[in-house]
Amino acid sequence: MKLSHSFAKTLRDAPKDETAKSAQYLIRAGYVHKEMAGVYDFLPLGLKTLKNIENIIREELDAIGCEELQMSALQNSEPWQKSGRWADQAVDIWFKTKLASGGELGLAPTHEEPITTLMKTYIKSYKDLPIYAYQFQTKFRNELRAKSGIMRTREFLMKDLYSFCPDEASHNAFYHKVEKAYKRIYERVGLGDCTYQTFASGGIFSKYSHEFQTLLPVGEDTIYYNADKSIVLNEEVVTPEVLDEFDIKKADLSSENAAEVGNIFTLKYKYSEPLGLDYTDKDGQKNTVFMGCYGIGVSRVMGVIAEKFADAKGLVWPEAVAPYKYHLITIGDAAAEIGQNLESAHQDTILYDDRDLRPGEKFADAELMGIPTRIVISDKTLEKGCAEIVSRATGETKLIPIEKVTNLDW
Ligand code: ATP
Ligand code: MG
Repeated sequence: MKLSHSFAKTLRDAPKDETAKSAQYLIRAGYVHKEMAGVYDFLPLGLKTLKNIENIIREELDAIGCEELQMSALQNSEPWQKSGRWADQAVDIWFKTKLASGGELGLAPTHEEPITTLMKTYIKSYKDLPIYAYQFQTKFRNELRAKSGIMRTREFLMKDLYSFCPDEASHNAFYHKVEKAYKRIYERVGLGDCTYQTFASGGIFSKYSHEFQTLLPVGEDTIYYNADKSIVLNEEVVTPEVLDEFDIKKADLSSENAAEVGNIFTLKYKYSEPLGLDYTDKDGQKNTVFMGCYGIGVSRVMGVIAEKFADAKGLVWPEAVAPYKYHLITIGDAAAEIGQNLESAHQDTILYDDRDLRPGEKFADAELMGIPTRIVISDKTLEKGCAEIVSRATGETKLIPIEKVTNLDW
């Protein structure tokens, strides 16, 4: 990709009301554009990053037998009325709108009710179970305070997975598979060693739900953990009763701020019962489907990664999610010719800054954009038959023979 071809430009300043470091950098580096408070557009670089995260999640879910679908963002009020979640008093973040022909619609804040209703068409017998269905879908939430850039927005990309099992035992087996898949996902996106499976409140049916919390100074949640972090609790469940159950004292726990990057819930019959999702078992008996739901805030994960790794100069992407692997800068005509050829041979992995700017500006933009490896070819390095390879994360610089560089092999 040639930088001169992109409409998105780096900016000197971020909007004044944007306080999160990640949001300032994402805007300045041309990854996102702010529409209004809590609403962002994903620009070409940002979209690629988001898609990389999405693909890692997709691979891990497909590997445990999940199936992808995409549901509508406009939602029928009926199933929500049946579950008791249509009223603004029950769910305070609804965006609702009126149909020209009369009646009200909701803009998807989540999909338990619609997918439970959808499955009534396809689940009749025990032979139809289990079903593990997920989507990447835009959610709308009328959050009172949109803050922290893309980490809390009014329109965001969520991966939501729903499981439909015949009974609790088969549900539990799948729940454990999701726990492991989530662990792999957070490892692959670069958050493995700072993300913890956390006990959180689980509503009325199961005692706890699990959240995946990434340690982050600007995170909105507070988590408590013991010395080896084998027990991690969301502040909301740190009660004398729970401390007793885990046989720990509050004084032995440390606390830290964290951002919720995902969660998993045992729903049991919470939605299948009021919405009448049942199946006929081997003996011809009617049973209610046992459900679970599993979310990941895909755009929030991108914001958390940006926030976590950014330094004083800009973004620093882990390689697995970075929009490009290499950021190529050339200085001088001979170097530019090599650069052109290198970029045309590897358009998907190289971002070539071919703009007519001073090298200093290009270097500053490379730091801001955070692509993992910078390749610098100049007439000076060429005199030594080499190019310079610079790690964005560590600043480590190596001189590599130009033949190796043009093969992207060093
Ligand atoms: P939170 O406690 O942060 O408000 P939640 O518990 O309401 O989130 P869910 O409804 O379970 O979250 O959504 C699944 C995931 O979607 C969350 O774990 C989080 O990563 C992400 N998410 C939730 N709300 C937002 C938002 N307003 N903006 C961006 N991501 C969000
Ligand atoms: Mg939460």
